[in-house]
Amino acid sequence: MLDRDYRFTYVNKRAASMFGASAKSMLGRNLWEAFPDVEVLVRSSYTTAMDDRVPVAFETYYPAPLEMWLEVRAQPSSEGIVVYFQNITERRTRTEERESLLKSEQAARAEAHEALREVELARRKLAHLATHDSLTGLVNRGEFERIAAAHLARRVSHQPSVTILFLDLDRFKLVNDSLGHAVGDALLVECAARIVHTVGSKGVSARLGGDEFVVLVEDLSTELIQSLCERLLHEIRKPALIGEYTISTSTSIGLATTAGAEEPATLLKNADIALYRAKKEGRDRFAWFDADAHRSLLERISLETELRIALDAGSIAVHYQPIFLLADDSVCGVEALARWEHPGRGSISPSTFISLAEDAGLINRLGRQVAQIAIAQAMQWLTIPNFKVWINISGRQFTTSRIADDLLGDLADVGLSPHRLGVEVTETVLADEIVAVRALQKLAAAGVGIAIDDFGTGYSSIARLSTLPVSVLKIDRSFVSDIDNPRGRATLDAIIQLAEAFDMRTVAEGVETARQLELIREAGVTCASGYLLAPPAPANALVHQLPRLIIEDPEPRLSS
Ligand code: C2E
Ligand code: MG
Ligand code: MG
Repeated sequence: MLDRDYRFTYVNKRAASMFGASAKSMLGRNLWEAFPDVEVLVRSSYTTAMDDRVPVAFETYYPAPLEMWLEVRAQPSSEGIVVYFQNITERRTRTEERESLLKSEQAARAEAHEALREVELARRKLAHLATHDSLTGLVNRGEFERIAAAHLARRVSHQPSVTILFLDLDRFKLVNDSLGHAVGDALLVECAARIVHTVGSKGVSARLGGDEFVVLVEDLSTELIQSLCERLLHEIRKPALIGEYTISTSTSIGLATTAGAEEPATLLKNADIALYRAKKEGRDRFAWFDADAHRSLLERISLETELRIALDAGSIAVHYQPIFLLADDSVCGVEALARWEHPGRGSISPSTFISLAEDAGLINRLGRQVAQIAIAQAMQWLTIPNFKVWINISGRQFTTSRIADDLLGDLADVGLSPHRLGVEVTETVLADEIVAVRALQKLAAAGVGIAIDDFGTGYSSIARLSTLPVSVLKIDRSFVSDIDNPRGRATLDAIIQLAEAFDMRTVAEGVETARQLELIREAGVTCASGYLLAPPAPANALVHQLPRLIIEDPEPRLSS
């Protein structure tokens, strides 16, 4: 207990032992003098109790000589204040320990949290890297295929439809090669941004690699998809400013849509095929995948391979169709016709495999094989007087090969006179091929016969015809079958007159009926061929079919 002057008026035993003095020695002493070090700590609290008469309670650390935590309560009394102490050092220590423990635990937790966050960030970054294209930031191929697969799997009975737009920049390689990869990359980034911007939320855009982009859209009408394509084409067409360059580019787009339960890979492949078509049709456009067209293309490709094999194996055969001189019904020649007996599909029509060979760049080999077989065969028919073996030459053979030199060489190799050979070309060959005309002139000069095949179906200039070394006009089958009506007859008459004027002979092709034969004879056609007279047949069959071919002079001799 303290009086108003902070002098001890009563100290109990516990307090005295706490202070390390006897109770008696403390009585009458001034608190602040006895414990100068605590004054700054507690004076204001004591004053509150002493002067303001308000009880206070606080906890504080008392330095030496106490060196302990005390909970202090000071209560006003009639003489001054009563102060109660409680040693709380132990409790404080425990609290402090707990607090510091708590603190370090919190720190550890924060640290762990931070570490986790970093791991998560790294994971996301890795995931992004694994699923996105680092250059453009678009989804990459793998992720796109996963997304597409998810879209396809989600559908119930093929609804909704999923469409893939396959974009490939036109002539991107040119930019890359001429302006460098940095410019190329910048252009890709620019195009990616335009694609994303144009597609917006309507679809998922991805970069497959190089200058290939794909967009997946779901359940859009054909019209909307096409207008999206138009906008993409338009956006990509806008010149891009890259560094000091202004680059104009364009893109082609192939489209494939789900018609069945396609795999994403199939859908992509189909869109790629359509893209190829868009490129082929002139770029800067879009094209839909066409399953039928694709199937026939595949068929054509496999047939092409098989034709190549047939040519390698030398399994293209030649049949011969006799041509008759109408004046005396003698055989004046044969037309050599290529035959392909396909091991699986049976005989394939020349109209199919000739055009195939032309497209595949095989026509020169095919033509050469047929010519060599026909020339060798012609050597067997040397005993037939005034007889020619006619071979068909495709227009393509004139553009790429030295056809005249080849043929004359083949003739020389076996020692056959050029007069025993004739070539049939169509009118179109004469129309625009200077090279063809030169080759024909060379052949004609050597003595090879020149015939215009299917005459009347092309567009040859009549003026041109008179200047060419043509010896025979082969009247197309269509005019022969039309001969019974006045217009057909008039056309036939006109062709015959033309031939006479130019000193050419005429051959009526495809004579099938006795009536046709009678009428063409009457019209004045020089020669005829057709199923009625003799169908095309292998060389060895001709002897039996045509008694007239049995030769009086069995000794082979050089032709005249
Ligand atoms: P082409 O040169 O006009 O040959 C006549 C075609 O008419 C042949 O068809 C022949 O079999 C057919 N034919 C003959 N008589 C009749 C008849 O009475 N009625 C009917 N309906 N048809 C008849 P093929 O053998 O199918 O040849 C078709 C075309 O393929 C040929 O027309 C020719 O342009 C081309 N071709 C055939 N072999 C060769 C070849 O070795 N080289 C080249 N470049 N083309 C060839
Ligand atoms: Mg012909
Ligand atoms: Mg013909």
